Amino acid sequence: MARKLNGRSISIHRSYPAKDIADALRVHKGTVLRWIRNGDLKPIDDGRPILVQGKTLRAYLEWRKPKKQKCATDEWYCLKCREPRHAAFEEGEIVSANRRTCNVRALCCWCATVMHKRFSIPTLSDLTASVRLSAQHHLKHLIE
Ligand SMILES: [Zn+2]
Repeated sequence: MARKLNGRSISIHRSYPAKDIADALRVHKGTVLRWIRNGDLKPIDDGRPILVQGKTLRAYLEWRKPKKQKCATDEWYCLKCREPRHAAFEEGEIVSANRRTCNVRALCCWCATVMHKRFSIPTLSDLTASVRLSAQHHLKHLIE
């Protein structure tokens, strides 16, 4: 997974040569030159030295940040895969509950890591459309 780059030290009012960008972001200069070569990071012009506007660089860093992923009703966020995943065997288990919500445990369909997700009691019926739920004896009433 790509490292998080911190562009907070980059001023939007300045222009930067590739070497300074590399130092500020703690990446190799070749990495910065590759971003420019790929066309992802636009320099001011074709001149030398290659200069990039701080504003452009900040926008680029924002663009390459991983986007927040929302889980669908029948998905859990797997901490190992770092992605929303379905329940293995389409099975989930209610492991705890209070009056309004319950915690449903499932195995990641991809890596079998245990995933937890909190559901409000009314949304449980949406979940049962695609996932077979089980529960310990004292929580069985939630499935009905
Ligand atoms: Zn996983």
